[in-house]
Amino acid sequence: MIFDVIIIGAGAAGLMAATRASELGAKVLILEKRAAPGTKLLITGNGRCNLTNNSLDNRSFALKFGKKGSFLLSGLSKFSPAETIDFFFRQGLKTKVEDGGRVFPLSNSSREVLDILISAIKKNGGVFNFSSAVKKIVYQDNKVKELVTIDGKSFSAKNYIITTGGKSYSATGSTGDAYDWLKTAGHNIVEPMPSLTPFIFQDKLIKSLEGLSLKSVKLSMLAGNKKIASEEGAIIFTDNGLSGPAALNLSRHYPRDNENISVVIDFLPQINERELENIFNGKNNFLIKNVLAEFVPMRFTLAILDLCHLEKNLTVNQVARQDRNNLIKYLKAFSLDKPELADFTKAMLTKGGVELKEIDNRTMKSKIISNLLVAGEVLDLDGPTGGYNLQLAWTTGYLAGENSVI
Ligand SMILES: Cc1cc2nc3c(=O)[nH]c(=O)nc-3n(C[C@H](O)[C@H](O)[C@H](O)COP(=O)(O)OP(=O)(O)OC[C@H]3O[C@@H](n4cnc5c(N)ncnc54)[C@H](O)[C@@H]3O)c2cc1C
Repeated sequence: MIFDVIIIGAGAAGLMAATRASELGAKVLILEKRAAPGTKLLITGNGRCNLTNNSLDNRSFALKFGKKGSFLLSGLSKFSPAETIDFFFRQGLKTKVEDGGRVFPLSNSSREVLDILISAIKKNGGVFNFSSAVKKIVYQDNKVKELVTIDGKSFSAKNYIITTGGKSYSATGSTGDAYDWLKTAGHNIVEPMPSLTPFIFQDKLIKSLEGLSLKSVKLSMLAGNKKIASEEGAIIFTDNGLSGPAALNLSRHYPRDNENISVVIDFLPQINERELENIFNGKNNFLIKNVLAEFVPMRFTLAILDLCHLEKNLTVNQVARQDRNNLIKYLKAFSLDKPELADFTKAMLTKGGVELKEIDNRTMKSKIISNLLVAGEVLDLDGPTGGYNLQLAWTTGYLAGENSVI
């Protein structure tokens, strides 16, 4: 069979590209390394698939990806979160919106999202080859000539779309294979590093609180004395560090040159130092643990009192002023030096990838290889938690699918 378009990788971006290209009448072949499509898509949002975020206009949405986000503006004008929700709705998916504009299937099932894409592709005549890992791309005269799979088969078509994802959660099939193929073609790859990943700290307090979550803290990242980023939201203490949305989002800002980095935690961002002092002063005869437990869980309260060498049954007025100030300092600016990031096995995302200036953002076409398009996480773009990264896959996948046909 002669194909118009071959898509490498049946993740969110590849499936959307295949849906759009096949809808426009192209004969589409999807080569997928794993025995089934959408392995990562199935585990998104803890199996519930936070498929997009509908809280922002396109410009603000793009800004969530940082300065590089403007790359997405053209794509969003064609396939925005609203169009994505509408696309899935037309295929029968009912959605609901949770806090922060996070959109989920009403069924809470990522399987439903995946099944919709698979059946749309099949209905349009798209062909899947599973357990078919591409090993090599052969180029000739600035064009892809053919693809070779690990079992030695070769495939060719008019156009090719790379949607192999990044390097995180490699058990899902995303092992960064495309970086070398693209380098061979002359593309630059911004060094991939783990993103949306937990922090690792060697710290007694953190370790003693394993499993506890706090709903609202402020995390700041400092390089020396200079603040480079901050995030507010929930955290979870792990056996060796911090996870949860605020920590994961902060990890996106971890610099490549990671010298002199520290993370400062404000456990009570809603109260400033002076207000905290006033609260203590107004509750002189109360047990200090009970005063604190109005704001943070008792388990945390006891751990922080212990860290400050304060007896848990002291009343506020039994705590010397200096000790009280010390406690306030720990609560408002708990500093952790030399944080490390958990590696790709724990990272939800890859930061880095194909340099954006080498891809036409109106079409997703490579500016180097004329019949090659690129979409999804393999691009040098990464967003925060909340449905932004799947939307990146839908938008760029849609554009690539459409422009592989025109
Ligand atoms: C645990 C977890 C939860 C997440 N939850 C959310 C969420 O709720 N909302 C959100 O917006 N984002 C979420 N993300 C991020 C989101 O899943 C990714 O951004 C998105 O899946 C990227 O899609 P993609 O198609 O670019 O790549 P992928 O989904 O990684 O797909 C790439 C595909 O290419 C295939 N492939 C790779 N190499 C080859 C090869 N050589 N030959 C053939 N096929 C190959 C892979 O097997 C894979 O199927 C989550 C990520 C993780 C890890």
